[in-house]
Amino acid sequence: MNQFCSTCGKPLLPDARFCPACGSPVVPMVATANRTLFRPLYDRRIGGVCAALSRAWGWDVGLLRILAVLSAIFLFPLAEIFYIACWIGIPEEVVPPPIY
Ligand SMILES: [Zn+2]
Repeated sequence: MNQFCSTCGKPLLPDARFCPACGSPVVPMVATANRTLFRPLYDRRIGGVCAALSRAWGWDVGLLRILAVLSAIFLFPLAEIFYIACWIGIPEEVVPPPIY
């Protein structure tokens, strides 16, 4: 995946800390956006796939659920296969055990 300088827009090396074109420091994207893909334990309807994808992509979870239902109807069985693949492939949210 290519990174681009936020100041001048020139492409950067994958682990560059400073832009070679303008010299401004490179801000790592992972620090500004939570891109971890996991299925939350509570905000879920079936398997938490919609909640996981909406968090990862920054989409509204309600909109994503409507799209999921529509594609489940019109793209049968592709959406169902995709959903089950995500259900298996996306790890569940890890919640620290409660302290008694
Ligand atoms: Zn630059």
